[in-house]
Amino acid sequence: MNRVLLVTGASRGIGAACALLAARDGWDVVVNYAHDAGAAEAVVHRVRSLGRRALALRADVADEAAVLAMFAALDREFGALHGLVNNAGVVDVAARVDAMSVARWQRMFGVNVIGSMLCAREALRRMSRRHGGSGGAIVNLSSAASRLGSPAQYVDYAAAKAAIDTFTLGLAREVAAEGVRVNAVRPGIIETEIHASGGEPDRVARLAPSVPMQRAGSADEVAAAVVWLLSDAASYTTGALLDVTGGR
Ligand code: NAP
Repeated sequence: MNRVLLVTGASRGIGAACALLAARDGWDVVVNYAHDAGAAEAVVHRVRSLGRRALALRADVADEAAVLAMFAALDREFGALHGLVNNAGVVDVAARVDAMSVARWQRMFGVNVIGSMLCAREALRRMSRRHGGSGGAIVNLSSAASRLGSPAQYVDYAAAKAAIDTFTLGLAREVAAEGVRVNAVRPGIIETEIHASGGEPDRVARLAPSVPMQRAGSADEVAAAVVWLLSDAASYTTGALLDVTGGR
């Protein structure tokens, strides 16, 4: 039986790279996205051209009804789930905490934290042996921000990613005896469009020289860590927080 993987936020960036590398590693892939259907369909096309099954499903991961509908569609189309990459994530414009709004924090935690927990909950209901599943693996996208704190940039984002770290540690231990492994990858400065979405398209060029390796990372370099954690090669690894940061 083919293994089925759901990657949230897979229409571009790290999520798209995970979808494609996972397809090369033998996974069928559900490509979740929130807005850009055309980009998601392009990823689906590339996964299919690698000989794997693929499907694009729209859902804002912070919207419970939309996430439940996405999992119902996944059940109908694939009938099983073996892996989840909680990749969908957002930043916001650089700001000090004394200038941040509650609406900003609700979006920051709604997408980055509750969205990941919600998708993990639904995945566990399908993968955990406690629920009749055959086991599986969850990889959460955290960030080096969780230990750096991102002062004067987005402390709220850093705090949300710290929540992801602790969620990973606790959930890994909670379901370790049920055939489900849970790990996180903490990227550093990676070349994707997320920096422009935070109002700073030059962020990578500005910060890359300060990285010990003196360069930014690529989405493919992050995906390599994610796909390894999903694979049987990582069969004894759970509760790990894997930094992919060039030493940052
Ligand atoms: P990106 O290029 O901005 O891509 C974000 C993806 O998430 C897009 O596919 C977007 O799809 C989707 N998305 C956004 N909000 C969503 C929502 N509410 N529901 C479902 N999908 C949603 O970001 P990235 O740089 O690849 O980042 C991916 C993950 O890595 C994030 O969790 C991020 O925090 C983390 N990370 C990134 C870096 C970095 O330097 N790039 C560093 C550390 C951690 P649509 O546009 O179609 O909505």
